[in-house]
Amino acid sequence: MNFHFTPIATDGAARAGLLHTAHGTVETPVFMPVGTAGTVKAMTADAVRSTGASIILGNTYHLMLRPGADRIEALGGLHRFADWPGPILTDSGGFQIMSLGALRTLDADGVTFRSHLDGSKHRLTPEIAVHLQDQFDSTITMVLDECTKFPSTYAETETSMALSMRWAARARAAFRPRDGYALFGIVQGGIFHDLRARSAAALTDIGFDGYAIGGLAVGEGQAMMNAMLDATVPHLPVDRPRYLMGVGTPDDLIGAVQRGVDMFDCVIPTRAGRTARAYTSRGVFNLRNARFADDTGPLDPACACPACTRHAVGYLHHLFRCEEILGPMLLTWHNIFYYQTIMKELRSAISTSTLSQRAASLRAGWAEIAEHG
Ligand SMILES: [Zn+2]
Repeated sequence: MNFHFTPIATDGAARAGLLHTAHGTVETPVFMPVGTAGTVKAMTADAVRSTGASIILGNTYHLMLRPGADRIEALGGLHRFADWPGPILTDSGGFQIMSLGALRTLDADGVTFRSHLDGSKHRLTPEIAVHLQDQFDSTITMVLDECTKFPSTYAETETSMALSMRWAARARAAFRPRDGYALFGIVQGGIFHDLRARSAAALTDIGFDGYAIGGLAVGEGQAMMNAMLDATVPHLPVDRPRYLMGVGTPDDLIGAVQRGVDMFDCVIPTRAGRTARAYTSRGVFNLRNARFADDTGPLDPACACPACTRHAVGYLHHLFRCEEILGPMLLTWHNIFYYQTIMKELRSAISTSTLSQRAASLRAGWAEIAEHG
């Protein structure tokens, strides 16, 4: 079975479809919870599955340092290691390494960096990044790219994008094709329309199983991000999945789905779950707020997750006030469940050509009683 994408329905530029992989089928648009080190933090694999999540993400940078690719391979690959037989996408490590600043040196061939854990020296090239993800047994491998820093000048962005395109071609050549496995290219080009279009065209010429849009949600703001999606998506093949990396808030997801994006990942729901921030159908709340101490109602009356159906919000508030581990566990569960619920609603709205109405009603709900910030 080849890795392939089947569109089912469209609504404007948005599309609902199926992603067929070696490890199962994924309904799109899809949100992929982030399992950085082979675990979606504070969640068991069963709990993640119970939210409706069908594919998770792992981070090559973290996994190559600890426990190491050889060890993951010897322990049966990432699927077995993490008790996740379903599809797994791994990033290439590029994004984390670029954030290391002084700890890394970039050259034309790759990047040398020091581990944030023990200062040990490591090297990543387009070929090594592909090989590591092969050892992980990742369903979807991402090419190594240079995530252009923001802000950057036009000239800097152009040079950086051109380097990423050369690396993308090398990754394509290094990738070992296997039935149901995929290699995705990554569009760069900063905030410049023509560079985004050129990057998309360069990747399409090389030919990938899917196309990611990188270098966004790095401080440019939502309006600019959406403008860059408008500049990019029309240049990508319609028969391949499109993945917006590292995005975003529920509102970001809606805007990107409306622009034709199929896949997302973001640490927001998991990180917020550990820091008492709840994403709900009525907006974002901080559960540490004293006003929740005596609240006997559910966190989100519209939500079917265990945190909402089995506990009063006063109990969740108590758990966070006491620094109990169960607080982050339940709230991460809720946030992931809520993100999956939104994606399900968007898929269903695309299928019935009611996406703009559904988007408006979701946004109206968030504005109802949300806190700001
Ligand atoms: Zn819930």
